Amino acid sequence: MCELTKAIGEIKTMVSDVDEMFTKLGFPTYTDLQAQLDAAKAEIDEQGCTCQRCKRNYRVDFIISDELWEQIRNGSNLLCGPCITSLVEGRGEFDAFNIQQIEQARADDGQI
Ligand SMILES: [Zn+2]
Repeated sequence: MCELTKAIGEIKTMVSDVDEMFTKLGFPTYTDLQAQLDAAKAEIDEQGCTCQRCKRNYRVDFIISDELWEQIRNGSNLLCGPCITSLVEGRGEFDAFNIQQIEQARADDGQI
C-alpha cells in the first residue's frame, strides 16, 4: 500500500470517528455538512450569483483590482459584469481593461 492510500484511509477513519462523535452530541456530521456544501456549490455553478445592484443572476465573475472595486462597489459584495461596466463608466473616464479567463475560479477555492 502506498503512503497516499494509507493516508487517505487514515483520514476516512478520522472523518468517520468525528461523524460518530458529532452524532452523539447532536451536531450535524462532517459528512452531512460536506454534502450541504457540495449541493450549494452545485447550485452556484448552475444558477450563478445574484447581483446586489440589479438583482439578476450572473455566471461570469469579474475579478477587478481592489482599488477599482473600492471606487465602484458602494457597499455591494456581488456585482454582475453589466453593472461593473456601468459603474466604471460612471466615473466619467474612458478606460480599457484586459479580460482573461481564470482557470478553476470556482467556489471550491473560495474566490466566489
Ligand atoms: Zn447587476
